[in-house]
Amino acid sequence: MTAFCSEAYGSVHRAISRIAQTVDLTHPVWISMNVYSFCQQRLDMADPNASVAAVCDDVDSVLGSAGPTAWYAFSPQSAAALGVWSNVTYPSSLVRQHIPDDAVFGDSSFTSNNVVYDIVANFNADFAWWFPKNDDTDAGYADFINGFMGKLGRSSVPLYTSGDQPVSSASVTSYYDMEQTLVHEFIHGLGFTSSWYPYLTLSGSIRSAAIKALMFPSDFLRNEGGCIVGMGLPYVTDRGWALAESGIWLNGYAERIRAGIDETVVALKASTGTSQLEDAAWTDDVFVSQFATTDGYQAALNLATRIKTQAIVSWYPTAPSLFVTPNDMPTTSMSAAEQVDFETSWAAAVMYTPQKLQPGSSFSHFDNQYYEGSSEFMMRPYGTQGVGLDGFMSADTRYGPIGRATLGVLTMMGYATALGPVVASLA
Ligand SMILES: [Zn+2]
Repeated sequence: MTAFCSEAYGSVHRAISRIAQTVDLTHPVWISMNVYSFCQQRLDMADPNASVAAVCDDVDSVLGSAGPTAWYAFSPQSAAALGVWSNVTYPSSLVRQHIPDDAVFGDSSFTSNNVVYDIVANFNADFAWWFPKNDDTDAGYADFINGFMGKLGRSSVPLYTSGDQPVSSASVTSYYDMEQTLVHEFIHGLGFTSSWYPYLTLSGSIRSAAIKALMFPSDFLRNEGGCIVGMGLPYVTDRGWALAESGIWLNGYAERIRAGIDETVVALKASTGTSQLEDAAWTDDVFVSQFATTDGYQAALNLATRIKTQAIVSWYPTAPSLFVTPNDMPTTSMSAAEQVDFETSWAAAVMYTPQKLQPGSSFSHFDNQYYEGSSEFMMRPYGTQGVGLDGFMSADTRYGPIGRATLGVLTMMGYATALGPVVASLA
């Protein structure tokens, strides 16, 4: 192992034990972890004449990325038996807690050749990482400079190496704690992420500003010819979400939008005489024109407008006994009395929803400013340089570096956490 790998290996162990302090994973979760130059990967695919700055500008600020390798939906019968929802998708790690022996996880003997990974996590080698090892030195950036970096006999490391030749001479002035980034990315890998996105911006043929702004709860389903034939289910995180001011559940929007998509498919099948969805051949423009006549379109447009000025909150149970199955989840049609009851037993976390959408960051993090300096710093969209976890944790260390709200969101999704065991089983 290279020095980097052995240092990173130590950080992985520290990060995993931080998570294990508060998230009870009964069945092992498998993580595929990769460290490489995000810039170099981009350069390898770019025009050879392109400058490093042009190719890497927008990637050199990304510390890492991670997510579940797969999302699964349960049939209504399985969902009822397991105490989960049937109209959302669940991340691989969580499904493994419910049904560890399912065929999707392959042979359960878990030799390295047949492991089915639950999480893929990538880390950017272009950054200067540091690997604090004991809690006494975690707090001190100066200790790090004099310690680990001093041991290596250098005070900076090059960015963007291409073979032996540094392709950028930028000197490193800030160091990121690998452990903090690992914990953050692994929590994304557990499914702390959003499926809401203006997916139509990805289509080159549709440029109208109104269409580009539409928010969808999940990506479009397309047939082999690339034609839109439906819409996927939102992630389970969506179930806790509501607009901050109006209190409207996002799940209600999701249902309206998905119904509008289904209605559109039915109408286009009829008008084009298509009997099988595999044969559907309408263009995205035709699809969207038809979709624009539905209530689902109004919902997508309405939400896109509202989130420009309203935050999204994620409701989570404040104690484990309050949330055992999806039936305990508050609904959009609660009475006033139920509403009061609900607000005493649930709390709301503020999600990161900047006015200008930031793909990969918006909706998938806690609000950056609201939680700055708080015990919820971990799932903010930016890493904090020059400080280790122990140096950054609040005085209330009951939940370690993973805040109560982050654990609450994981609890709402169905994980067993320090807030209490909630994973249902087929006993
Ligand atoms: Zn993140």
